[in-house]
Amino acid sequence: MGKTLGHLQPKRIWEIFEEICQVPRPSKKEEKILNYLIDFAKNHDLDYKQDRVGNLLITKPGQAGHEKKKTVVLQSHVDMVCEKNSDVEHDFDNDPIVPVVDGEWVKARGTTLGADDGIGMALQLAVLESKDLEHGPLECLFTVDEETGMTGAFGLEPGFLQGKTLLNLDSEDDGELFIGCAGGIDTTATFSYESVNNETDHIAFKLNVSGLKGGHSGDDIHKGRGNANKILNRMLWNCERMFELRLAQIDGGNLRNAIAREAFAIVTIPKRFQKDFETTIQEFTHDIREELQTNDPDVKITLHETAMPECLVDYSTQSRLLGALYACPHGVMGMSPDIPDLVETSTNLASVKMTSKEITISTSQRSSVESLKKDIADMVSSVFQLAGARVKHGDGYPGWTPNVKSEILFITQTQYKNLFKEDPKVLAIHAGLECGLIGEKYPGMDMISYGPTMRGAHSPDEKVLIPTVEKFWDLTLAVLKNIPEE
Ligand SMILES: [Zn+2]
Repeated sequence: MGKTLGHLQPKRIWEIFEEICQVPRPSKKEEKILNYLIDFAKNHDLDYKQDRVGNLLITKPGQAGHEKKKTVVLQSHVDMVCEKNSDVEHDFDNDPIVPVVDGEWVKARGTTLGADDGIGMALQLAVLESKDLEHGPLECLFTVDEETGMTGAFGLEPGFLQGKTLLNLDSEDDGELFIGCAGGIDTTATFSYESVNNETDHIAFKLNVSGLKGGHSGDDIHKGRGNANKILNRMLWNCERMFELRLAQIDGGNLRNAIAREAFAIVTIPKRFQKDFETTIQEFTHDIREELQTNDPDVKITLHETAMPECLVDYSTQSRLLGALYACPHGVMGMSPDIPDLVETSTNLASVKMTSKEITISTSQRSSVESLKKDIADMVSSVFQLAGARVKHGDGYPGWTPNVKSEILFITQTQYKNLFKEDPKVLAIHAGLECGLIGEKYPGMDMISYGPTMRGAHSPDEKVLIPTVEKFWDLTLAVLKNIPEE
């Protein structure tokens, strides 16, 4: 062991990381890696405990002369995303990951590397085994199952941790310090409808919206991309008024955390309006293409005559549905006043799905401010309740509100600048992090998240930039050394 990476610096981090690569650790199958960590604690005479969901805490007293420093929690997650190229044979439950050095990067052979978050774990273990570092009391928290639902962080109980300062070692860009993330909640609206007979003298069309970029409802929500549900509905709502349009079928979007890329409807109109209807859709197509020419230029709207549907959605439900979809907000609702360019609050009109009796609209809201998350979720429910739909909220997960006056932020910023002679960027993300859940269980926990530079996380292209691992180590040691006394 330690053969491939043992020549890299800092030596112990890379040796330990290579050892971790030998231990299978898919999300929800973490027994092997947890046993490895428990053995590590036993071999180094360190206290450890485990909670009901499997999270592990290894503690180490402060070094002589540093016992009075505030306790610091170092946190990583033990699981990894298991993705491989189709031409690679690999059994993630049993086979070791094979790390290879490629220029300035370490990557794996056709699989995810697990530097997310194996490098964070390796750093924790290197600090735990050290004899000569200047640090106060430490709690190393290893959470389970970050990648498929954050169930470890969800299950973390109050009282498990003593420290009130936490370094989350799970970020992916050297030079970036994260101090906030968004919480999220789902809002689902359901309309019941009656199937009614076709109108006489109508003809049927399929109206289709496609070609949009879509993207993640957190990371991409501010990019001004088209939402297929909104575009489709805008045409339907207008044509209902202009041409007595009737709705037979509607379907759009898919995943709740994705911006809708495609949507279609089957509609009927009186035959006498055919020409004007077609012209109107052409005009909408022109306008929408103009509006999206910069952000989503491949949007495609098609209209084809189709077979008459068997029945229609009753007119009252149709009208309330189209009105509600039009009124329902989508996109950025507010920007952070503290962090430049951070979306604070947003909502995503994710999907519209139809069964023989019901039409269900799925939406999701995000905000780094808990009260604003509730506000936008209530705004969306209000729209659908006005339209007579039944509305439900999911349980949701909490955000992490940026605290620009945080002590750990000040220490980390100062040490970064001392060591590397440049200012780190201070950022927050508009997506979920474990820190949101940890902060909910431990109000007042002073937290920061950082890490070495990685690319391609969660894909077989995952790689970590070697020189930034040394910076990650040096920064962490400088921060630990400069933690003040209680
Ligand atoms: Zn991670």
